[in-house]
Amino acid sequence: MAETNLILLGPPGAGKGTQAERLQQDFSLAHISTGDMLRAQVANGTELGQAAKRYMDAGELVPDEVILGMISARITEQDAREGFLLDGFPRNSSQADALAATLAESQRRLTGALALEVPDEEIVRRLSGRRVCLKAGHVYHVELDPPKHEGVCDQDGSRLIQRDDDKEDTIRKRLEVYAEQTAPLIDYYEQAGLLRRFDGTRDPNEVHNHIRATVATLRMEDRL
Ligand code: AMP
Repeated sequence: MAETNLILLGPPGAGKGTQAERLQQDFSLAHISTGDMLRAQVANGTELGQAAKRYMDAGELVPDEVILGMISARITEQDAREGFLLDGFPRNSSQADALAATLAESQRRLTGALALEVPDEEIVRRLSGRRVCLKAGHVYHVELDPPKHEGVCDQDGSRLIQRDDDKEDTIRKRLEVYAEQTAPLIDYYEQAGLLRRFDGTRDPNEVHNHIRATVATLRMEDRL
């Protein structure tokens, strides 16, 4: 059976993480989030984490060589052999070129690039109210999706915190970096015939249903 290799594109706060969790279950894919991998390195105090933290706190991209080493090792792991879902990678055209080269070397290819579209003001509203649990990164929103007890994760009881990079100044910087470096990838994947667009302002269940149907079609087309 052909593997299903997907990219989730979209600004920070577009709902990539939420959709990725669901699609991972629908299609048994390895969910690979470079942001989560970097935060784990920071939490463990590794050398890589220490080097990455100052870029992350400033809302800037971590240098490509750090990210590329991490990703090329990760997509060859056992659980990613049948397919993967990249969330937060690639973030610029050199990362996209490097991914294409790495996949080509092992006769693998992308099935599709899924773009979640959400306007900037909505992003700022979403991210500034976002809270994540310390233990597993479960995501809440102070207005849109509050936990049952303020400051406590419904799923595992751990404390909810605001990510350092979800403060308003950093959010604006991340949006700038997205517009300059990451948004051009939408064209890149459109030209490759891989792009599918989704309205990320809709209800997450609706977005999920739409993406799931689209991925099912992409998988069928891929097998023909
Ligand atoms: P995210 O959770 O995907 O929004 O990522 C949080 C932060 O990690 C970003 O603002 C970047 O500083 C860094 N980061 C995550 N993925 C990448 C990537 N592919 N390239 C460079 N930096 C990244």
